[in-house]
Amino acid sequence: MSTEPNCIFCKIAAGAIPSRKVYEDDELFVFHDIAPWAPVHFLMVPKLHIASMAQVGSEHEALLGRMMALAPRLALEQGCKPYPEGGFRMVVNTGAEGGQEVHHLHVHVMGGPRPWLRG
Ligand code: AMP
Ligand code: ZN
Repeated sequence: MSTEPNCIFCKIAAGAIPSRKVYEDDELFVFHDIAPWAPVHFLMVPKLHIASMAQVGSEHEALLGRMMALAPRLALEQGCKPYPEGGFRMVVNTGAEGGQEVHHLHVHVMGGPRPWLRG
């Protein structure tokens, strides 16, 4: 598994920096955002260091597919109400103009009753 020594999300996924874990398997690590915008706000990261969506290629299709398919299950488990009354939002900030602050690919999953702090 390729990781970056100075990457905070590589360290979180390896358990070297503590986080509030939501889910983990061989390829993925999911944890609560430290500064949530919404009542439910967790981050899904691949254990493999990929800097952003801009680096994603066809070799990552299965991995990203797994993340997309896992999100609805975890959203319900974390307290999002079912679709269509409930639901959730998934966001992937990419690059400076895309608002990305941490350069390890992560999917924000946000949900829960409105109003939210942002968004
Ligand atoms: P982005 O702007 O898409 O790169 O989002 C980075 C997100 O990571 C922000 O929502 C931060 O609150 C969150 N974050 C940064 N450091 C940590 C941490 N140590 N544990 C959990 N979430 C974090
Ligand atoms: Zn990383």
